[in-house]
Amino acid sequence: MIFFKSRRQREFIIVDTMIRMYCTKMHASDQELCSSCHDLQEYARKRLDRCVFGELKPVCRECSVHCYSPQKREQMRIIMRWAGPRMIYAHPVYAIIHLFDSRNRSTIDRTIIKSE
Ligand SMILES: [Zn+2]
Repeated sequence: MIFFKSRRQREFIIVDTMIRMYCTKMHASDQELCSSCHDLQEYARKRLDRCVFGELKPVCRECSVHCYSPQKREQMRIIMRWAGPRMIYAHPVYAIIHLFDSRNRSTIDRTIIKSE
C-alpha cells in the first residue's frame, strides 16, 4: 500500500510506474523492461537511495541538486514528459500522491524560511 511507504519509496514506485508505462508503449516491452529502461530504473533507485535530502527530499523536478548524469537526466525527462500527463488517467492515486508530495515540500520550505 503506497500510503504507508516512506517518501523515497513512494517516489521510486511512481518513477518505476512511469518508466514501465513508457517502455511498454514506446519500446513494445512486455513484462520485462528493455535494457535501456532497466538501466535507467536501476540508476534511479541508486540515486534515490543516496539522495542527500533523505526523507525530506523534494520531488525531483523541484530539486536544487542535479544528481543525474546529463544523459540519464535527458532520458528521464523524455519519459516524465510522456508519462506525466498519462498518470492522471492510468494511476490517479499515484498522480495525487505525487501532487501532495510536491505541496508538502513547499510547506517544509516555507517553514524553514520563516524560522530563519
Ligand atoms: Zn524501454
